Amino acid sequence: MFSSAAIFAACSSKTPSDTPTAAVKGDTTPALAPLVIDTTLGAVTPTSAASMGKVPVLMVHVVSDHDAAWTVTKVRFQRTLELLYAHDYRPITVAQLIDKRIDMPSGKRPVVFTFDDASPSQFGYIERNGTLEVDPESAVGMWLAFTRKHPDWKPRATFCMLSGAEAGRSFFGNKNIDGQQDAWRFRKVRFLRDHGFELCNHTLWHANLSKYPDAFVQEQIARGQLAIDSAVPGYRVRTFALPLGKWPKNRALAQKGEWRDPKSGVVTKYSYDAILEVAGGPSVSPFDPTFNSHGIKRYTMFVDAVDTLVARLDRSKNGYVVP
Ligand SMILES: [Zn+2]
Repeated sequence: MFSSAAIFAACSSKTPSDTPTAAVKGDTTPALAPLVIDTTLGAVTPTSAASMGKVPVLMVHVVSDHDAAWTVTKVRFQRTLELLYAHDYRPITVAQLIDKRIDMPSGKRPVVFTFDDASPSQFGYIERNGTLEVDPESAVGMWLAFTRKHPDWKPRATFCMLSGAEAGRSFFGNKNIDGQQDAWRFRKVRFLRDHGFELCNHTLWHANLSKYPDAFVQEQIARGQLAIDSAVPGYRVRTFALPLGKWPKNRALAQKGEWRDPKSGVVTKYSYDAILEVAGGPSVSPFDPTFNSHGIKRYTMFVDAVDTLVARLDRSKNGYVVP
């Protein structure tokens, strides 16, 4: 999506050790009921015929006022949460999917939301009287409001982030684009982790990895991971999303590699349990022998595509249902 992007020294400063707290000071709106934060992941689900069904792994980019390529409207995003909830879907992360930890009651259906590119529309802050509030019209704001209304719709989704791209795609906004400040970026990443969302690497600035040499591929991936580590020190990133769905020429480098910072000499290694593609979904069940955690198929959320998918899985009865 980004034809060109300048690499800048994003997110190089280390933050002091950061304590996982349920609510980061100033990040919640006092007028609303407190969120119940539960970051535990469920036990491994037993198998049955129904647990061999398809799982929607949805891919979301921009949540905005108008339908467009890679964009879904705020109204539609909210309606989709309602539609999925009414059809007994409950969210899990990619990590839960690959670990087969589908922690919901019998009869419910897992859905995985993946948010790509870290745009401000996914997670915005509004500053009011010196206090930061989650923009209620950003995807995270809408999600948490939905969780307050339906506590069994947990904060479980996977954010595949860029840390140094243009157009505000740097940990959900920088350079005052859409009113988002550079200083808020790490705080947003920590907020997501603290609330139970999964942090996923989507590289430094979204290069088409199929066009570059091995060393460049590893630098792009390693620097994305390094930036997440700067925001949340010690966080183990398990999921990687391929920019544009393009594999590097040496496919193995998407899963595992390393990069030495020429300035500091520090070597950053990465190794991922899950790799996300951009199309081909819904995904087969993680219990299906053909499930490949290093090439998970996704389904793009745009216009009424999710409505169509939900209806199709209802009709065909080949969606995953918790036994
Ligand atoms: Zn992307």
